[in-house]
Amino acid sequence: MNAALKTRLLVSGDPAGKNVLHVIRNADLSETLARARAGVPAETELELGGPMPRRLLMRARALDDAPGSVLAVLVDLTELRRLESVRRDFVANASHELRSPLTSIRAAAETLESAHDDPDSERFIDLIVRNAERLQNLVDDMLELSRVESRELQLELQTLPLDAVAERVVAHHLPRAQMRRIALECASGMPAVRADRRALEHVLANLIDNALKYCAEGATVRVSAARESGRVRISVVDDGPGIAPQHLERIFERFYRVDPGRSRELGGTGLGLAIVKHLVEAMGGTVAVQSRVGAGSSFHFTLLAGA
Ligand code: ADP
Repeated sequence: MNAALKTRLLVSGDPAGKNVLHVIRNADLSETLARARAGVPAETELELGGPMPRRLLMRARALDDAPGSVLAVLVDLTELRRLESVRRDFVANASHELRSPLTSIRAAAETLESAHDDPDSERFIDLIVRNAERLQNLVDDMLELSRVESRELQLELQTLPLDAVAERVVAHHLPRAQMRRIALECASGMPAVRADRRALEHVLANLIDNALKYCAEGATVRVSAARESGRVRISVVDDGPGIAPQHLERIFERFYRVDPGRSRELGGTGLGLAIVKHLVEAMGGTVAVQSRVGAGSSFHFTLLAGA
């Protein structure tokens, strides 16, 4: 153990020759070292309590030329994790604080909307209502993202009938699809999945909402699913404008939009797909997109198959 680690862990005296657990009381650490000694390179994030709590990333592997020996490298992540949590708390608190004044502004403007008779006021009130609505969407999405990110959101995975859940979400979006003359379809006979109900609804709603937002009249949007070795792959496919290849890798990033002006005009926040990605990953799945300009977009995500 080098001097830097001894200082970090407040180890006094010479630890050489002592049992690891006697020097550093941490079960994860000794289990990771044991795995490495058995020949599997191992990595873990350790949470150490005591008078100076620390978070350390440890990587360990057996040394080829010294049988029975393990080399472990530790990186102190305490400050990084603290800053991440400060950032998350800030976003969550700021969004939360912004919510109530926004609700009041909206309510007041909506009341005025029905109680005036001057065209100029009408224009301004409409502007206030629309912008308050946009801000509210943004604040809601930021709050949702920070909840998923901080794992404060407790997901409850259960076996759910994908058929019924998807149908409900589709039914909810049908009026808007009809208004925009877009055919919105849902396959039947879809398998059961392991998912959190609210998270699954949110993911489906978001992908359908995007398809309805970005496709022009006459398009078709279809929700379907297929079994794939213990997993279910759910697809939301449209034959809309598609997305150019240089954007595909980045559209799951927060605030990334292909055309920011158009997204804003349509009420987008640029956070929808980032929330989708976090929710799917929190349920143990992955999310992906395939698209070609002019040929439409296919968004897919996987979930464990239901029992
Ligand atoms: P937004 O609120 O802007 O819709 P998202 O994170 O949901 O944010 O999506 C990011 C960007 O991906 C959108 O701004 C849009 O450019 C693009 N996009 C998402 N879904 C589709 C789709 N079905 N067809 C075309 N472009 C899409």
